[in-house]
This record gives sequence, C-alpha cells and structure tokens, in this order.
Amino acid sequence: MNENCRNHRPLVAISACLRGENVRFDGGHKNSLYIREQLGRFMDFKAICPEVGIGLGVPRQALRLVATDSGVAAVGSRDSKIDVTNRLRQFAEERIPDLTQVDGYIFMQKSPSCGAFRVKVYNEEGNQIVASRPGIYAGYIQAALPTLPIEEAGRLSDPVLLENFVTRVFCHNDWRTNVQNSSSISALMSFHARHKSLLKACSPSSLPLLGNIVANTRQNTLHEDMQRYKELFMSALAKKAERKNHAHVLQDLVRTSVSSMSDAQLREWESLLYQYRQGTVPLIVPLTLLNHYLLAQNRGYATGQTYLKPHPHELGLRNQI
Ligand code: SF4
Repeated sequence: MNENCRNHRPLVAISACLRGENVRFDGGHKNSLYIREQLGRFMDFKAICPEVGIGLGVPRQALRLVATDSGVAAVGSRDSKIDVTNRLRQFAEERIPDLTQVDGYIFMQKSPSCGAFRVKVYNEEGNQIVASRPGIYAGYIQAALPTLPIEEAGRLSDPVLLENFVTRVFCHNDWRTNVQNSSSISALMSFHARHKSLLKACSPSSLPLLGNIVANTRQNTLHEDMQRYKELFMSALAKKAERKNHAHVLQDLVRTSVSSMSDAQLREWESLLYQYRQGTVPLIVPLTLLNHYLLAQNRGYATGQTYLKPHPHELGLRNQI
C-alpha cells in the first residue's frame, strides 16, 4: 500500500478463544500462533467471546444450532430448553457501534455462535443435520456490517484466502482513516486512483462502476455516494483475483509506467510473466522485477498503486499465490 496512506495499524475483531483466552465450553482455547505472532506484528486485535458475553460460564454446556418452527435457534446440546438465541442477537446488536471502528473480523469456524459460514444445523431431535448457516452471533454481525472483511480462522490456512482477507483489512483501514474520517471528494478521488490496479485484478467489471460514482459525486450527494462506493468496493475486493487478471495488471503497469526496456529485459519480463501464468512461479516473482524497473525509472502512476504493496511484504503473502 502507498506508505503515505498507511498511517494506522488495522484493528481486527477476533473470537476470543483464537487469542488464547480460556473461554470455550470445555474451559480451553483455540490459540492461533499464526494470527498472534505473524498477523499480530502488523495489526491489533479486539477479542470478543459472545457466549461469555451473555453470561454463560466456563466451563458450560456446549451449544448447537437447531431448526425449529420459529427459525434456527442456539440451544444447549444436552438440554434444548436452554435457548440463548435472543441473548446472542442482543449481544451482537450492542457490539455494532464498536465494530464500526474495526477493519475486519476473524471468527472461529464451526461454532454455533461465532462460525461465519457453514455451521451445522440439527433437527429438533438433535440427531440429523438438516442445513448449514452462520452462527447466530456471526450471522447478525455480517448482516449489520456487510462491508466489514470477515474470515474464519480455519480458512486462513489457504494462501489465496489469507492474502485476500489481509488485503481487504488494509484497504478497509485505508478507507476508514483516509476517506471516512475526512469525508471529502478529493479524498474519495485519491482513494479510487490508488486502488485502480487492485480493482482490475479482483473485479475488472467493478472499476467503471466505481469510477462513475467518483466522477458524478457532488458535495450534497457525497455521503450516500461514499456508502455506495464502499459497498461496491469491498464486494469487488472479496472476489479472488485470478492469475490471468494479475498477469493483465502486471503487463498494464509495465506498458504504462516502464518507459524503456532493453531486448534482454523484455525477454526476461515476458519469460517470468509466462511462468507466472503457468503457475510455476508465485506472484512475488514478476512483482519484484516490476518494482525493480519502476524503482529505476521512478514512474508516478504505478508507484502510487496499492496493488504493488497492499500489505506489509514481511508477511510474505504473495510468495505463495
Ligand atoms: S467460538 Fe466464539 S463463543 Fe465459542 S469460545 Fe470462541 S469466542 Fe467464545
């Protein structure tokens, strides 16, 4: 990311058990060393345990999701008369004001409270899985804050999903600190300009739509235009960038920003780009060469693009995709 725009560490909410807190039903935790020791070098965390937050003790009876006539409920796995659905929703509602100040949320997978995607739902007899859906708390948060980057800890072991999530977190932080807080047309224009290449990689069709919002905004429509822009921008970034899109963007940056290449440099570049397209070298390889050319020629447009450095290179996230 453009260093001038990275002036705050992202703040990310996280299921408290993933931070090593002994809050699980069995008194244990699910500490993630990667989140703590790697991601934690570059972002801060806000740990939340909704089940402890609503007053359930540690240890406690495990919960499960059950399909009832009035909808899906979070109930005790041994005693289904213990129904904490409404208390979990209430707790989530009370967290929303605080969560407008975070840049992402890492949830614990499979939990009937915190699971973000495919938590098992049982029938009322509790012996058959009839569906899957987000946990009660996580589902409420996602519906209330649809632009917040979210991911489950288990899915972060996939390098593509990890890189995508961290990119969204840093972009959300850029938006929150540089656009939302200033609420000016120039801040919106500048944000759009520096994210063009990233948008081309993730969702090329979104770029003209976002460009239209920026071009047509006026002071009296800025607030709602910013809201529309943020929704479209964050959903565009949630799409995984395909290898062929990355290759297009890299070629585009060379075409627009590298004024001269010797025949040998051109052959080297085309060979690396071909290898990247074939999947034999990771993204960091052509990117490093591109940065080398750009550094030598000091070209403005490309060097201002978030795409070249959407997150700290120390994380090495582009070494594996
Ligand atoms: S998954 Fe959520 S509710 Fe369960 S222990 Fe972890 S933080 Fe608490």
